[in-house]
Amino acid sequence: MRFEGGCRVWARRVAWLVGVLVVACGAAGAARAQCPSSDNIGWARGSTVRFFLDPNLSAEQKRQIRWGLAEWTRANSVNNARVRFEEDFTGQNFQFHLHNGPLGAGTPAFANKSFRSDGTVVAATLTYDLNATFPGTNTRIVDPNQPGFDTIIIKLTLHEVGHTMGLDHPPVPSGNACNQPDGATVMNYICNVNDRSDNMPLAVAECDRGVLNSLPRYPPFNQTPNPIDETRFFVRQHYLDFLNREPDAGGLNFWASGIESCGANARCREVKRVDTSAAFFLSIEFQETGYFVYRVYQAAFGDLAGRPVPITIQEFLPETQQVGRGVVVGVGNWQQQLEANKNAFVQDLVTRRRFAARYPATTTAAAFVDALNANTGGVLSQAERDALVRDLAAAGNTPQARASVLRRVAEDATLAQREFSPAFVLMQYFGYLRRNPDDPPDPNFDGFHFWLNKLNQNGGDYRRAEMVKAFIVSIEYRRRFGQ
Ligand SMILES: [Zn+2]
Repeated sequence: MRFEGGCRVWARRVAWLVGVLVVACGAAGAARAQCPSSDNIGWARGSTVRFFLDPNLSAEQKRQIRWGLAEWTRANSVNNARVRFEEDFTGQNFQFHLHNGPLGAGTPAFANKSFRSDGTVVAATLTYDLNATFPGTNTRIVDPNQPGFDTIIIKLTLHEVGHTMGLDHPPVPSGNACNQPDGATVMNYICNVNDRSDNMPLAVAECDRGVLNSLPRYPPFNQTPNPIDETRFFVRQHYLDFLNREPDAGGLNFWASGIESCGANARCREVKRVDTSAAFFLSIEFQETGYFVYRVYQAAFGDLAGRPVPITIQEFLPETQQVGRGVVVGVGNWQQQLEANKNAFVQDLVTRRRFAARYPATTTAAAFVDALNANTGGVLSQAERDALVRDLAAAGNTPQARASVLRRVAEDATLAQREFSPAFVLMQYFGYLRRNPDDPPDPNFDGFHFWLNKLNQNGGDYRRAEMVKAFIVSIEYRRRFGQ
């Protein structure tokens, strides 16, 4: 019942086929966590892999695939692999091709990697076959009409990209591959439609990170002096972590020369580094992309259940990358591009299952606006609220009109002001530490609350609160780059 990959030898390189193990079995029993095994065949350490999403993928598939690749880029930015996945929109210069195509029975996704004799992957193809069925049945493994469809392609992508990183499936305990604790590794198996039992996690797990960091091809970063102390390295890292892009030459020179103008004055350099760092959160480019995404989520869904924030880093990164696509503030027609990206984002969001489940078509214009307003803690004045209800009703309460209302609430000046400090603190975790505030080593949001209180006690002044400084000198941040 299991799919086993085959291999074939090419001249000077080998293509190794790896697929998702699909296992038809009963309910999972209790079992010890099994981390993935490895073949140590992965992308070159520190490389940027350009990926191309084939036009035959649906919009929903693309959304989920981008999530999976953004999550791997995030995970790699704190593990030793440091492999970045960057989208190629031209279709002319890519190493990693993702597309739909026919696969064998029981195989909803399949990674084919080409690598050199030293095991370094130089190209890969990831094929999806959403019509695949469980072996010996007519039951679809991925079913658009069943719960879980809005995350199953993320899980398949995390799994298959894991294969291209050098990970392999975990050992099968007691002969039953479904005897695997839920979510222990992205290399787990699918045991039911759309993985409704959540065997496969939506984020690269500690288990996966540990195995990658143990591979010979991904040794630890232990250079001294730490490269993050070097000015241009420091500035470039901020472009990658906050703006999701390589620096433009003008920007890189501007920020680097600001720090270098201090010469050997250590106190001056420290102040300039902190201010340079904060400038990325404060920049128009970030405020109009990352902070915009944060506010849209706040307006659409409110805070996450049991958490004081509206969005996870796994949700945040792929959305922000799409809103920022092709936008470099001050360059070319960036304003039109940004406007088009923002509209495309909200228009897409309102058609997704999560949004539609929360706001069925039967929701009246008044109930819709009131729900969004409640999500923001009531930032709308009565007049603003009434105007939105009137406009939405007049436009027929269509998805397009709802998207427009969502955007107007997200861009309300009171909301932007009210959420500024919480978002600033959250972005310390997202930008510098590349994790959620309650991810390990933090067990909860105590650290988040500590910094938010400190920021508030200092009137929102990050310098007096010493917040940015604390993050950029933290051991956790510095260990991303060296000793
Ligand atoms: Zn697999």
